Amino acid sequence: MVKTAILGGGISGLSAAWYLLKKEPQANIVLYEKGPRLGGWIETNTSRGFTFERGPRTLARSRSPYLLQLIDELGLKTISSSGGKRYLWRQGKLRPIGSYWPSMLCAIARDLFAKRSQQDDESIASFASRRFGKRAAELFFDPMTLGVYAGDIHRLSIRSCFPTLWDWEQKEGSLFRGWHKRKKGPAGLFTLEGGLERLISELKRQLPIKIVTNFEVHSLDDLAADRIISALPAYEISRLTNIPLDLPYRSLWVVHLGFTKKHLKQKGFGYLVPSTENQPLLGMVWDSDLFGEEETTRLTAMIRAESADPIRTALDALQKHLEIKIAPDFIEARLAKNAIPQFEVGHAEKIAHFEKQVQIKFPHLSLAGNYFSGASLEACVQRSFNLK
Ligand SMILES: Cc1cc2nc3c(=O)[nH]c(=O)nc-3n(C[C@H](O)[C@H](O)[C@H](O)COP(=O)(O)OP(=O)(O)OC[C@H]3O[C@@H](n4cnc5c(N)ncnc54)[C@H](O)[C@@H]3O)c2cc1C
Repeated sequence: MVKTAILGGGISGLSAAWYLLKKEPQANIVLYEKGPRLGGWIETNTSRGFTFERGPRTLARSRSPYLLQLIDELGLKTISSSGGKRYLWRQGKLRPIGSYWPSMLCAIARDLFAKRSQQDDESIASFASRRFGKRAAELFFDPMTLGVYAGDIHRLSIRSCFPTLWDWEQKEGSLFRGWHKRKKGPAGLFTLEGGLERLISELKRQLPIKIVTNFEVHSLDDLAADRIISALPAYEISRLTNIPLDLPYRSLWVVHLGFTKKHLKQKGFGYLVPSTENQPLLGMVWDSDLFGEEETTRLTAMIRAESADPIRTALDALQKHLEIKIAPDFIEARLAKNAIPQFEVGHAEKIAHFEKQVQIKFPHLSLAGNYFSGASLEACVQRSFNLK
């Protein structure tokens, strides 16, 4: 019987096992995970009465067809949210994004007449400035890129980071027309009852495979397997195959702040801080306001890795941005090291070249993970679904 080794016990590895067993119910699979637990970046932490997601937290219904199907197959229940208002911290004030509607209207008018790109790829900054103007690039695209990739719009690729926007331009000649003609799916955000880690515990419970934790793979040759699926970070599989892949990763601080009482006056999803503000804070998610009314306050601040004192940064933001003057009952700061792959301009070609080299040198190795196109859970699950 064909023996399959899956490397990495995050969502990519576990979903790869799930889909392989659907195609080959008798498959003999061993999954190897370096750490003591499964889940990778997905981790729901409940401490002192506060539940926080240490990694991913917000999933968009319209952009998660594969993930929602998997959740359904596992028999898990989702909780929905409309998402709520989003804000920018700009020029000393918290401003609803909706208040920038005159800038949005100007941007849309420009977009309708902007020319289609003739290049194979372009930076997000160049794409947004060309279509909408520099102000729209700084006001909307920069914070959006910080919120998703903690990355720099001048370096990151529009084609790989926001492929839908790139496709709209290529197919419709305008983002507004593309958006207008899009296939409308269910709207809003969702999470899972009990937290996103339920996805991992349920996959672990239902998968009839051998799982070996506390096992760091040091060499592909040591694995007694006919077929290998890597669901490791890009730098790790590049090291193991000895095939170079220049793909930078960004680190960031994730700081959780919990209060036993309700203190947040604002309502909504949270806010982002544009790069032009030169702040260590990237943004803050108002967790307690996202999925229903709560009597507590739970907030998550995302802070640049270079910040010397992330807790001070988060507490300053509480006071200055949200006018919450009292100390939180719960604080946790964790550095998410090498957390988000940075899809720089030319990423698609870079990855295609890497995959080709892998195919030549290791024909029995397939690649899953979050570094192909989009780093979302949906992108990971979709990649695992499509593995040959
Ligand atoms: C702070 C943060 C917030 C995020 N927010 C969102 C969000 O809101 N929505 C969203 O959709 N996505 C979000 N993401 C992105 C998403 O969480 C990740 O892209 C996704 O979880 C990656 O899953 P993965 O299985 O590909 O990789 P990982 O989760 O990195 O799993 C890889 C696994 O491989 C193991 N491993 C590494 N080396 C070895 C080795 N040599 N041998 C054996 N095992 C090894 C690791 O221990 C790890 O468990 C967020 C990410 C972070 C960090």
